[in-house]
Amino acid sequence: MSTNRGFTTTILHSDRLGKPEHGALHKPIHTAVTYGFDDVQDLVDIFQNKKKGYAYSRQGNPTVSALEHKVTQMENGMASICFSTGMAAISATILSLMKHGDHVLASSYLFGNTRSVFQSFIDLGLDITFTDATSIDNITAGVKENTRMIFVETIANPGTQIADLAKIGDLCQEKGIIYVVDNTMTSPYLFKPVNVKASLVINALTKYIGGHGNALGGSVTDTGLYDWSNFPNIFPTFKTQVKPEVLGMTQIRKKGLRDAGGTLSPEAAHVLSVGSETLALRMERACTNALALATFFESHPLIKKVYYPGLKSHPQHGLAGELFTKYGALMSFELDNSIDLFGFLNKLKLVIKSSNLGDTRTLAIPVAHTIFNELGAAKRAEMGIDDSLIRLSVGIEDLDDLLEDFKTALGD
Ligand SMILES: *Cc1c(COP(=O)(O)O)cnc(C)c1O
Repeated sequence: MSTNRGFTTTILHSDRLGKPEHGALHKPIHTAVTYGFDDVQDLVDIFQNKKKGYAYSRQGNPTVSALEHKVTQMENGMASICFSTGMAAISATILSLMKHGDHVLASSYLFGNTRSVFQSFIDLGLDITFTDATSIDNITAGVKENTRMIFVETIANPGTQIADLAKIGDLCQEKGIIYVVDNTMTSPYLFKPVNVKASLVINALTKYIGGHGNALGGSVTDTGLYDWSNFPNIFPTFKTQVKPEVLGMTQIRKKGLRDAGGTLSPEAAHVLSVGSETLALRMERACTNALALATFFESHPLIKKVYYPGLKSHPQHGLAGELFTKYGALMSFELDNSIDLFGFLNKLKLVIKSSNLGDTRTLAIPVAHTIFNELGAAKRAEMGIDDSLIRLSVGIEDLDDLLEDFKTALGD
């Protein structure tokens, strides 16, 4: 298909272009764990990376491949690998590419579980340091002789800080550092990290791409921009088997997916794939709702502070406008001290008290008591997480119903 067709057209017709069985419009769900061959040479060639095919479903499956292809198209990438969760994708990427003695520079505003697993990698001996990635100066100062990877998110959760994405990309390219961008908060509909020279793009498919809160999944996409030919951590055998451009993906698939085993099930891949067809429609609606709600909250006397990149008061509002096609569907806000936090949340009848984000339904969670609870009060204060902070993942409900719910809860 012509590569200049639109985002949604491309996703909708992606399976069919792979010529699925019987002309099916969706790639069928293949549940076989293993694959048999008439000629043993075919089995051997798949093992030795000489031929594409499926041998054992932990490292590859036709239904999952169809989703991988879709994610690659969404990200304008070269190839993708799917995982059972976003966390499995992140863990496998670090585990397969980094070695003892390497340094990873990461944003200090990271998804809580990413931060937590990075601490586990530090405990295992990997050198990971954190810095405020909203400023390129901090990143430049944080790079060391042995820095092999920089890891950032697009819009941070819950504070909505935005990394200096384009300048970090320039720096990584200049220094030959692997640039990993977790694009979950923006999704490939609002932002394509390849445009800021990212090497690898992470997506938690669980969130906006799947979109309906009914399946977990994650992915890593190679944009094709990183030159793997001189990367020192590639397993020597792979260098004799595959072309230099696919060394990164080969290493992540074998050492990250096959060995660590965070495999996406074909059933989940199917659900995520169907969900992804409406990504653009859902994002448009959710972002429009979010901007309207943020504007309402900002002018309300009982809301102390609103964190949303679409507001002019947001410190990186200008940068967000340059980088993203919309400002996202996630925001946080602090309540006035006179309001009881749990009482307010319990007055919400439509908005659901829940920890997920990127669902079609609007979800709210008190941050300090839940997702940032393990950090402790001192660390929260350091990160500017107020006890009254509520994170809101805005869904696609009718805006008037959402406004009505919040007005009632605020006693308007
Ligand atoms: C949710 C999330 C993840 C992890 O995804 P799971 O599928 O829940 O494991 C990673 N990064 C970000 C930014 C997320 O929001």
